[in-house]
Amino acid sequence: MKIQLIDLKRQYGTISEEADKAIVDVLHSAQYIMGENVKSFEAEFANYVGVNHAISCGNGTDALVIALRALGIGEGDEVITTPFTFFATAESISFVGATPVFVDVELDSYNIDPEKIEAAINEKTKAIMPVHIFGQCAKMDRIMEIAKKHNLYVIEDVAQAAGASYKGKMAGSFGDINTFSFFPTKNLGCAGDGGMIVTDDENLATVLKALRAHGSGEVGQRAYNYLNDIEEEIVADEGADNTVYNPLKYYNYLIGHNSRLDELQAALLRVKLPKLDGWNKRRAEISKMYIDALVDTDLVTPVTTEGSNHIYHLFILQSEKRDELIKFLSDAGIATGVYYPVPMHLQKVYKGLGYSIGDLPNAEYLSERTFAIPLFAELTDEEIRYIISKLLEF
Ligand SMILES: *Cc1c(COP(=O)(O)O)cnc(C)c1O
Repeated sequence: MKIQLIDLKRQYGTISEEADKAIVDVLHSAQYIMGENVKSFEAEFANYVGVNHAISCGNGTDALVIALRALGIGEGDEVITTPFTFFATAESISFVGATPVFVDVELDSYNIDPEKIEAAINEKTKAIMPVHIFGQCAKMDRIMEIAKKHNLYVIEDVAQAAGASYKGKMAGSFGDINTFSFFPTKNLGCAGDGGMIVTDDENLATVLKALRAHGSGEVGQRAYNYLNDIEEEIVADEGADNTVYNPLKYYNYLIGHNSRLDELQAALLRVKLPKLDGWNKRRAEISKMYIDALVDTDLVTPVTTEGSNHIYHLFILQSEKRDELIKFLSDAGIATGVYYPVPMHLQKVYKGLGYSIGDLPNAEYLSERTFAIPLFAELTDEEIRYIISKLLEF
């Protein structure tokens, strides 16, 4: 039997009729940028997460960069984040000219340890960027408390946790600005790159919208006026047909980005969003089967934090014999992946930050032991039983 880590073809098979129609409709509409699908998907996504504003963009990395820029974070600033994440989290902080400060993770949840955050705060600290790693929320109640006490922004990196919640609140509804990725393998993925930035703050939403597309037009002017404390009435030209030519586009107010979600991706995401909770539920069911079956082995299975609705972006195991086990599974046709082999503070690119081995022992410990086994909603019971049998055999 051959089982991939995630089989995107199978998910497409379950939605192909609806998805194909949505895509073809966009092609026929010849409205490819910022059309009805983008507008509707933003509203539907904001409603799903329970926030006032959702601003789509090109990918989850841009979402982080634009979020940081909208909060005015840059040169000379520090942002506290986790070392046990995908590189984009730390990269976005460095990209805007700020310095990532890594705080060690909890050994059980794999998320940033809130109790270690305060020791890393100084006068340069501007924000905390928790990541809900592998689909489980960081302890957001404690993190928000600390941020409030020290007057810091919070940016949740929700790339791996669309649909997760913590103590009854959705992932992405805690921080000042929070970001999502629709990379194909995420729990809510599109057919290419895509991202979303959410916030409850109307002024921040204006700045985010402006930064997404060249800081131009009416929204660019509104953002400029907000950032420069200018009071001015801006009258929108409601009658203008902006489909092909929008004269306002050529008036620029901020140095922005070209980072929009394509209309085609938005149309596909609108088909998929209503199915997300069902897919996440099935992932959790399969995860429970894995956990129950492995209870008497020395493999360490995922731990769910109290009050957390874990959506299992990846199913992570820990083994003292990781390399041997990966080889054994591979010989049996079962794919695995190592998430993540090198914690951020020990990455070559961050040599200049001055960390050494032993500085963040939990992240280092995990990076030597954790790995993912296949998990996606369309796995069959037979495949699950086969994977379990091979793990037990080892
Ligand atoms: C995937 C991911 C990102 C980046 O998203 P892209 O859409 O690939 O740019 C950022 N942070 C985390 C934790 C991720 O897993």
